[in-house]
This record gives sequence, C-alpha cells and structure tokens, in this order.
Amino acid sequence: MTTSIEVSDLFVSYFGKPAVSGVRFSIRSGELVGIIGPNGAGKSTVLKAILHLIPFDKGEVKIFGKKVKHMRKKMAYVPQRSEIDWDFPIHVLDTVLIGTYPELGLFRRPGKKEKDWAMECLKQVGMEKFYKHQIGELSGGQQQRVFIARALAQRAEIFLLDEPFVGIDMTSEEMIIQLLKRLRDEGKTIVVVHHDLSKANDYFDELILLNKELIHMGSTETVLQPSIMLKAYERELTFLKEIGVEA
Ligand code: ADP
Repeated sequence: MTTSIEVSDLFVSYFGKPAVSGVRFSIRSGELVGIIGPNGAGKSTVLKAILHLIPFDKGEVKIFGKKVKHMRKKMAYVPQRSEIDWDFPIHVLDTVLIGTYPELGLFRRPGKKEKDWAMECLKQVGMEKFYKHQIGELSGGQQQRVFIARALAQRAEIFLLDEPFVGIDMTSEEMIIQLLKRLRDEGKTIVVVHHDLSKANDYFDELILLNKELIHMGSTETVLQPSIMLKAYERELTFLKEIGVEA
C-alpha cells in the first residue's frame, strides 16, 4: 500500500505556547485512522497542520510524497460543526456544489454535469430530498451529512474530518461511519479526530494517540491497551481520583 500522508517532526504553537511537539507518523491509503487523545491534546491542530490551515514552527507534511500546496484538490476537509456558520444563507445543493469547484477552476460555473454529481453525492448520504433546503433549517446530523456530501463531491483521495459525530443523531452517525468504511475499502485515506473512546474499536483500523506529542500509533487493539492509554490519560485519571471517582 502507498503512503498517503507523512507527517515529520511537527511543532505547532499558539502565541508561543506549544500545542504539539515532534509529532511524526505516516498513514497508508486504504486506512481509516482515528486521532484520539484528551481535550486539548492537539488533535485538531494536527489535522489543520496536515491541511496547512495553520502555520507551524517546524516540520513537514507530504501528501503522496508531494508538498501539500500541490495536492489540495485531493484533500477534502470536514471541519468541526462549531467552526461552521450555520446561519449563512446557502441551500443544500449549493453547499455540495462547492465541492466541485477545485475541478471547475476559477471561472467556470457548475453546469448540469456538476449538479447531477452533487445530487448523486447527496443520495449517498440520504439527503437528496433536502436539496432545496437552507442549510440552517436542517438538524445537526443532516447538516453533517451535507458536509460529507460536499467532501464526496470533491472526488478527493484523502478525507480529513474533525469530530464528525459530535452533536448528531445515531442514524446519521451510522450512515457516516458506513460511508467512511466504504471509502476506505475503495482505497481512500480517512482520518477522523474523535474523542469517544467507546466507539474507537468499532470504527478505526489504526489509532494515533496524542497528548501534545505522539504517545503511540498502531492498530486499534494495540493502542487501546490500558498501559498505552494511561500514558495519554494519566492527568484525567488523577483528576477523577481527586474528585472521588475510581476508574
Ligand atoms: P484537541 O483537538 O485535542 O482538543 P486542539 O488542537 O484544539 O486540541 O488544541 C491544542 C491546544 O492548543 C489547546 O491547549 C488549545 O487551547 C490550544 N489552541 C488551539 N487552537 C488555538 C487558537 N486558535 N489560539 C490559541 N490556542 C489554541
């Protein structure tokens, strides 16, 4: 299998305060990978650094061996729900059509071909009936499915999703994970920032465990072992003991 994402020696800080230090890992295509770790561990930071959405102090990201700036079209990003302005007046089909823009280029408007493809992507997430709705009218799960459809419309090779299951209903969650597994089986690379450890075993092939630095990357079973998890969650456990909760 080919290496699709390679992160080496990544250092990111915000206003001089380190968020992640010395993170390195590589991900192969055809893998569904979870980035886990406690709150503030730097999970979103790593995802944004892969996309070059934030500057970093040091390090390098390669996508299929090339610089990110040459590979943007191949990378689809679904940001955290809280980072999206849901009041923005745009309807569902136009939201998905944005995914086709990298292929269209700057000066061509989407035509029938792009609209048909956007509808097909909406079908894949069960949202085709809502194509005329304003995005703000939808439930959290429906909105997330539309954003996944936008990522599909991009025909990307790499899908990067930040906490896609937060604030959504179980049906949408099920649908999204099945879709991500199908994309994985088609050879795409899927990276998901995720905090709900109870689902990690069912959802992911590999896990990247972070806590400001890389604690461990490996198969889901390996990373979920208590001896490894403790290295990242020790502070949380100490806190639980302090307030009288025994883990
Ligand atoms: P996680 O996704 O694991 O919860 P983040 O990557 O969001 O962690 O954040 C890592 C650290 O960086 C945290 O201490 C957070 O407060 C800080 N941080 C994240 N984004 C910013 C920002 N835009 N400005 C300042 N500090 C930030």
